[in-house]
Amino acid sequence: MSTVETKNELSVYESMAARFDVAAAKLQLDEGLTKYLRSPNREIIVHIPVAMDNRQLRVFDGYRVQHSIARGPCKGGVRYSPDVTLDEIRGLAAEMTWKCAVVNIPFGGAKGGVVCDPSQLSQGELERITRRYTAEILDYIGPERDVPAPDMNTNEQTMAWIMDTYSMHMRHTVTASVTGKPLDLGGSQGRREATGRGCMISIDEALKRFWWKRQETRVVVQGFGNVGSEAAKLLHEEGYRIIGVADVAGGVFNTNGLDITALLHYSKENGTVKGFPGGESIGAQEILEQECEVLLPAATESVITSKNAHKIKARILAEGANSPTTPPADDILFDRGVFVVPDILANAGGVTVSYFEWVQDRQGYFWQESVVNERLKAIMVAAFDEVAHYGEKHKVNNRIAAYMLAIDRVAFNVKLRGIYA
Ligand code: NAD
Repeated sequence: MSTVETKNELSVYESMAARFDVAAAKLQLDEGLTKYLRSPNREIIVHIPVAMDNRQLRVFDGYRVQHSIARGPCKGGVRYSPDVTLDEIRGLAAEMTWKCAVVNIPFGGAKGGVVCDPSQLSQGELERITRRYTAEILDYIGPERDVPAPDMNTNEQTMAWIMDTYSMHMRHTVTASVTGKPLDLGGSQGRREATGRGCMISIDEALKRFWWKRQETRVVVQGFGNVGSEAAKLLHEEGYRIIGVADVAGGVFNTNGLDITALLHYSKENGTVKGFPGGESIGAQEILEQECEVLLPAATESVITSKNAHKIKARILAEGANSPTTPPADDILFDRGVFVVPDILANAGGVTVSYFEWVQDRQGYFWQESVVNERLKAIMVAAFDEVAHYGEKHKVNNRIAAYMLAIDRVAFNVKLRGIYA
């Protein structure tokens, strides 16, 4: 995979910190507050002993970083991957704080991860890792403290195990302890599609700035998991022409537009989009550089760097993935006039519907899907407009505008609450 070559320009935390520093300076935040908001509140490192199927004991490293509780309980996903590092989790936790603040929901940011390769683990092993990880961080999570959600390589089943483990310790069922749960266990309608739907809404809003029609808009999507596949499906339904899709194994490209319904079916059957007969084969990294109006990276971080930013031909870059663009690439894209919808705005649909799920669990009253989608749209459109307004007012690009809006909101709460001594 060529992405490996382009990684490590800056770590996820360094990227977050670089953007944070620019935004904090523009806001003229004082030095102490800048230092405070840049650092996480708490970092938890656990070493998880797990009896494997062959009865051998293995130890997995796990992390939970809680960046801020200034605006409410922490909120953020848990990812399983052999590449997980504390630095990455630290950066993503901070980004969750800014993301929740951009869409103005009452959460702070957190992120968790376990260093493991799910493709090499049985369901039983995954369940035991998940339950023990939950038990190790139990004192620090819960509906009022920190609410985990799915992220890379975790899903509704993982959330059901976390919720059950937490509930067993509390001696009663606590559905609001996680979001992204199965519907039957207190999940929300529309949660599975929410991040992709949020991407679609922000692309729609960006399109209005260009006066383009959906039917004339060519879209390339990198990543065909939860975010990429749902976004592609919804964009296709809305009339956009999806001309390229790739996952980690490779991609498929057709300038006339891909049949997304058939591609979804093919990907489900084959575990990849590679080899789909409805288009030509293309590399997962190469796909980013194709001629199109909208590029939606929805796979992983640091895929657009100073090495390939000058080759991006899209006019709109909507960041479905977290941190897909490095700060040096930001500058190149900005100079080339690419309209960037930054991750903390474009992919905030997921955490927004997670918020709805948490509210519904606590009320014990569940909303219809149309209500969820309508409220999601209202929040995404308002956030998009606020970021654009901030950008115009302060003469900064969308990324810095989103950071400024978020930092301003969090700083306001910190000042209002004061510092406990
Ligand atoms: P997922 O595991 O469901 O899917 C990831 C997809 O990306 C898969 O198709 C995989 O093959 C592909 N991929 C991985 N590495 C790749 C590479 N180097 N090149 C090309 N394709 C690659 O994950 P997801 O939940 O869809 O998350 C994708 C991104 O979106 C992550 O950055 C995640 O943090 C972010 N995100 C997810 C959510 C959510 O609700 N799931 C919310 C906000 C942000």
